[in-house]
Amino acid sequence: MRTMSAIDQAPAAIQFPTLAPPRRYLFGPGPSMVHPHVYEALSKPIVGHLDPYFIQVMGDVQQLLKPAFGTSDGATLVISGTGSAGMEAAVTNFVEPGAKFAVFANGYFSDRLTEMAKRNGANIVRFEKPWGETYTDDEAKDFIQRERPKAVAYVHAETSTGALQPGHAICAAAHEVGALVIADCVTSLGGVPVEFDRTGIDIAYSCTQKGLSCPPGLSPMAMSPRAMEWLRARTTPSRSWYLDLKLIHDYSTVSHRYHHTAPISMFYALREALLVIADEGIENRWERHRRCHKSFVKGIEAMGLSLFVPEPHRIATLNTVRVPDGIDEAKVRKHLLDGPGIEIAGGFGPLAGKIFRIGVMGPLATEDNVQFFLTEFKKALH
Ligand SMILES: *Cc1c(COP(=O)(O)O)cnc(C)c1O
Repeated sequence: MRTMSAIDQAPAAIQFPTLAPPRRYLFGPGPSMVHPHVYEALSKPIVGHLDPYFIQVMGDVQQLLKPAFGTSDGATLVISGTGSAGMEAAVTNFVEPGAKFAVFANGYFSDRLTEMAKRNGANIVRFEKPWGETYTDDEAKDFIQRERPKAVAYVHAETSTGALQPGHAICAAAHEVGALVIADCVTSLGGVPVEFDRTGIDIAYSCTQKGLSCPPGLSPMAMSPRAMEWLRARTTPSRSWYLDLKLIHDYSTVSHRYHHTAPISMFYALREALLVIADEGIENRWERHRRCHKSFVKGIEAMGLSLFVPEPHRIATLNTVRVPDGIDEAKVRKHLLDGPGIEIAGGFGPLAGKIFRIGVMGPLATEDNVQFFLTEFKKALH
């Protein structure tokens, strides 16, 4: 066997410096800060993807996801891919070619959903609103009753705008016309309540690198009993083999027969991230985020700045702040990154140059960190 030192002395190791990523404060919309326990989990020895130990880890993750999503009888599983893989899985499995698909379109991610559905041959109808606005119960109901779609999609926490869309009225109206509801919970899961069962969501997908404070790479999903029944009854195969939820559900929860090689280390990380959340208590975590959000808003308003989204429709973990007149937002972001090493994001699409997107979530959601951020942000603005 070749010794490690022989490898260490290979020319490549001399040419490339040791990996030493800068330490950042990730106050953006994601990826968010990772808990030290999660980093530790990533360095544990890997086992095979069919090893009984790994099957147990997958089972633990599915179980731990239930309280995070707020479901008791929904099926939970994890897609090997980022949040967009969960989005694509939802669309390709639950929107058949030719089927009418209604999209609440008020931001960047509802446009991505639309694009995926278009590629899947759906008959798309969109209820368009300017970015940052939300839908009232009556608007949601009228749209669904008028269109009578087979599936409906909305973005619970629209990361491009900072707006939170409640789903109760959408789900109730959709169920009246026999439609399934897909909810994008990529930014909300782990940060703000998703309430999967109580809302009546049929299919929810998320990611690991935002509200769950884990590195990117996996997409947790929840499916209602109605969604599972619909999936079992579907006779045409999903257009995507890799994202076929029948096959993934069978691999991850039923037969444990090989479908693809699950990213073992990321499952370890997700299990640990969910345990960190369970230790704190999901409700306590939401409350901590709410408290920090209030304190953040207070500080921002005290600086004479304002939030982009009106009061009852804000995402507690992702604040969108209007860029004041005469300020170049890209310069502010560069100043924060180069100085204290703080990452925040700007707006894009119609909101380019108009907003800052500032995440206060996971390990960063403490009063001290909020004050630290506000102080540095104020300096950067000056
Ligand atoms: C980040 C995000 C996605 C896409 O997730 P990726 O992990 O970047 O693939 C989808 N929807 C929303 C609302 C998001 O914020």
